[in-house]
Amino acid sequence: MRLDVVSIFPEYLAPLDLSLIGKARRDGLLGLHVHDLRDFTHDRHRTVDDTPYGGGAGMVMKPEPWGEALDHIAGQGDSRPTLIVPGPGGTPFTQAMARELAQQDWLVFACGRYEGIDERVYEHARSAYDVRVVSLGDYVLNGGEVAVLAIVEAVARLLPGVIGNAASLVEESHEDGLLEYPVYTKPAQWDGRAVPDVLLSGDHGRIARWRHEQRLTRTAARRPDLLHASATLRGDDLPGEL
Ligand code: SAM
Repeated sequence: MRLDVVSIFPEYLAPLDLSLIGKARRDGLLGLHVHDLRDFTHDRHRTVDDTPYGGGAGMVMKPEPWGEALDHIAGQGDSRPTLIVPGPGGTPFTQAMARELAQQDWLVFACGRYEGIDERVYEHARSAYDVRVVSLGDYVLNGGEVAVLAIVEAVARLLPGVIGNAASLVEESHEDGLLEYPVYTKPAQWDGRAVPDVLLSGDHGRIARWRHEQRLTRTAARRPDLLHASATLRGDDLPGEL
């Protein structure tokens, strides 16, 4: 998969050199190109923002450097990339969207700052890109870089070969609409607290049933919205407290 990220803070993407994503890059599973938006400016101050038409607080990112940067990147490949513009007004990012994006071969990210990017850039980009505005959640960040780190990590770990044990992806929270069951490791006793007996029983059927109950209970307590959607799909019984 090829990834391009455009930002006025290219250093913000440095964590993508670390851990499993860094290894995936070194193994050639992921090609990452980070671009400094200011390299697409032509004035002495490398200006990327200006005051908003119509007045109001804050600054807006200018269309010219964005248009030039996005044209430059789109011209580097043969296929039509997906352009992801992080923004609090976008479609909420979910595991299902991560799975969908993991099927693409080229993702480009446009990191906004200030009050965001001039709206005409989105229209311009549609000629060369499939454009999606994606929100990390119902809160406001200072810039798109943190959202890009989260989206890239969630997508890249789904690519074949990035996670050593692919089976671990299947059981995770949000994969089938439920949260994951509680997990324990050695020692069996710690701080006066014991690991639940069932996990030491060796009875795989009992363990599977216990884990499923725990998933339902935990989802009911923390994310009842998910439980109702998932139970409807799976025909499960909802836990009594609901
Ligand atoms: N004025 C914008 C609004 O109210 O929708 C918020 C701009 S925010 C201060 C600056 C940049 O941070 C945005 O252009 C976007 O790139 C990023 N951002 C902020 N919150 C975000 C979120 N919840 N999800 C994804 N990106 C976000």
